[in-house]
Amino acid sequence: MRRVDRLETVFVDEIPEVLQDGILYVSQECRVALHNCACGCGEEVSTPLVRTEYTLTMHDNEASVWPSIGNHDFACASHYVIKRGRIVWAGRLSRHDIEFGRERDRRLKRPPPQQPVTTVMPAATSGSLAPPKRRRIRAIVGRVEAIWKKMFG
Ligand SMILES: [Zn+2]
Repeated sequence: MRRVDRLETVFVDEIPEVLQDGILYVSQECRVALHNCACGCGEEVSTPLVRTEYTLTMHDNEASVWPSIGNHDFACASHYVIKRGRIVWAGRLSRHDIEFGRERDRRLKRPPPQQPVTTVMPAATSGSLAPPKRRRIRAIVGRVEAIWKKMFG
């Protein structure tokens, strides 16, 4: 196991069981590229080639993969870009960057917040016939009218 500075691109139909260091396996059918972590730690790095994940660009036989590969879940925590078949080492991701990225992911995946549950008015005993909902709408309309008057006359 040793650090590599180049990746040779090999197009495959099926991903082999054991990956060799220094090779970027690309399966167009499975829309994925795989390689052993370039630091030589032996961890397998999978980069899904789908719109929301990674983009693979070929320049003759040299592959570029974008965005950068941040292996912060591995012990090595290596971070690099594959550019024209070469490994361009990037700075180690700081804890803050990792948390920021995760928080952003979480936010994108989270459903929009629920509207707060509106409290139901107690049964009308005051003699008013308007149901609570109708009254609230009227209050909103009144407020809008007030704003309108303030702005336009
Ligand atoms: Zn590694």
